[in-house]
Amino acid sequence: MRNREFDVIVVGSGMSGGYAAKQFCEKGYRTLVLDRGEMVKHGQYKTEGKAPWQMPFRGDVPEELKAEQYIQKDVYIYSDYTRHHLINDQDHPYEQKRPFVWYRGSKVGGKSLIWGRQSYRWSRLDFEANKLDGNGVDWPVRYEDIEPWYDQVEPFVGISGSYEGLDVLPDGKFLPAQPLNIVERDMKQRIERAFPDRHFIPARVANLTQPAKQHLELGRVQCQARSECPRGCSFGAYYSSNSAALPAAERTGNLTLVANAQVQEVIYDEASGRASGVAYVDMRSGERKRVRARVVFMCASTLASVQILLNSKSKVFPYGIGNRFDVLGRYIMDHCGGGGASGMMPGYLGDYYKGRRPGGIYIPRFRNINETHGAFERGYGFQGAASRASWQWAKSAKGIGKAFKARVRQPGNWYFSMWGFGESLPKRDNRVYLHESKRDQWGMPLLVMDVAYTSNEQAMIRDMSETAAEMLKVAGLVDIRPFEGEALPGSAIHEMGGACMGRAVETSYLNKWNQCHDVKNLFVTDGSAFSSGSCVNPSVTFMAFTARAVDFADQQLKQGYL
Ligand SMILES: Cc1cc2nc3c(=O)[nH]c(=O)nc-3n(C[C@H](O)[C@H](O)[C@H](O)COP(=O)(O)OP(=O)(O)OC[C@H]3O[C@@H](n4cnc5c(N)ncnc54)[C@H](O)[C@@H]3O)c2cc1C
Ligand code: SF4
Repeated sequence: MRNREFDVIVVGSGMSGGYAAKQFCEKGYRTLVLDRGEMVKHGQYKTEGKAPWQMPFRGDVPEELKAEQYIQKDVYIYSDYTRHHLINDQDHPYEQKRPFVWYRGSKVGGKSLIWGRQSYRWSRLDFEANKLDGNGVDWPVRYEDIEPWYDQVEPFVGISGSYEGLDVLPDGKFLPAQPLNIVERDMKQRIERAFPDRHFIPARVANLTQPAKQHLELGRVQCQARSECPRGCSFGAYYSSNSAALPAAERTGNLTLVANAQVQEVIYDEASGRASGVAYVDMRSGERKRVRARVVFMCASTLASVQILLNSKSKVFPYGIGNRFDVLGRYIMDHCGGGGASGMMPGYLGDYYKGRRPGGIYIPRFRNINETHGAFERGYGFQGAASRASWQWAKSAKGIGKAFKARVRQPGNWYFSMWGFGESLPKRDNRVYLHESKRDQWGMPLLVMDVAYTSNEQAMIRDMSETAAEMLKVAGLVDIRPFEGEALPGSAIHEMGGACMGRAVETSYLNKWNQCHDVKNLFVTDGSAFSSGSCVNPSVTFMAFTARAVDFADQQLKQGYL
């Protein structure tokens, strides 16, 4: 391995890196993927299918183990079933100049193993937002530039969804939608009648409702509605790098995947003005290695890619490779959340549903589309679901005997909950940088988070809470409880920005092809490339940009420019 030369190095094997590897391998390039995580092969999911009584702590995590994951323990999927898919915070610390929660995957496949699978296209409005309201840097691309790449990525991923014809949430290439349940169907009618600009639709999720040939060829079959996805699914019924992109790359024979490889630096070659490869540490032996390639793709996730780029210092670029104008690490964004409402739906007690649907409903953005809200710029969408209370309430209830057992067997009332994801504004002062002296045990400088929300995000969260409550009221729910949580950057796990795309080297890091303005064979295609954040879940858009950048790099390689 030491001196072997590759065509392409991809750093990271998650949502963006996995897809980059697949595309390059299928185009015939010898591709090296380096990932800091431990290897987990598809199907080797150690807690999959286990019942609570097969787990030592019934699925709970003892406090002493939580201490190792003092940040990860707060992510909503955290349990004894999933914690091995999340990083050990003691081993991978970072600094918080201002509070920031950084949730990270611990395995090859990254967060693709544990993501919520909500998959939406961005709209025209999203790519024009910066230009229209003057925040951040204008995107050098528009929806039309990325549309064909959604068309390529979505069928491979396998996204279930309904065709709605909405400008604000473009339709894609969908598998059949997961059906709404009876309560959701009635809520949809009532909400859409009362608010003609609000649409209550099935969530679009990367779970296979009707596998196509390309899924079956990879051994991926129909979703069984167990809703245990973050444990890993050997049916391959939800999309992850491990179940889909990496096996597709592997079958070409062009993939070399190295796990436990912490990339620390992209190496800049002064003579050619190009990246010659990367330097990494074998995290188990501590050995330092260098590998060379014609092209480097950074896909280590938004903040990790920025960390590596900032640490890639040379005489020409003392502040990080390609960072002549202090643009690297700036305009960090996440979706702001925490606003919503829940309530109880009376009646429907004769109605039930089968299985545990791994999705729910979505209400696309309706603020600041045709009217101006006044209190904030941009907008938010809601995710939610209706379900019946199950026997789980009995875990903490007192009782014994026949009557108690009979009561536990009865399904409870119907409840509905919805929560918003809002677009935060790209601000230059929301930034990350390297700590001057602190390093992790492998020698990587720690990242310092200096990010905060403004009154814009706070006003948006307040509005989420109010509009959620008003919709639940017209939908006929009772005991409505609006909530308005603290919006902590990072908590939506949709980090973006830091190496933004733009038109000029003075104000942006990448050009319209995700290519570093100053280092032409260096590409960044994860969320760090994003110049604004939209309000919809971003991962399928990371993949679409990755697909587009691979295609461009392929053409450049063939024409001899790289
Ligand atoms: C619980 C949860 C729910 C989510 N739900 C959704 C959702 O519904 N919809 C959605 O769109 N998004 C969702 N997300 C976010 C989504 O997972 C991320 O946007 C996506 O995975 C980012 O892709 P990525 O390729 O940039 O990073 P990742 O998928 O995190 O992959 C990055 C990879 O790089 C590796 N790496 C990091 N640093 C280094 C280094 N120095 N050297 C080598 N390798 C490195 C990591 O080990 C990792 O494997 C969710 C995330 C979580 C945790
Ligand atoms: S819900 Fe579907 S994708 Fe998720 S674990 Fe179950 S079968 Fe797999």
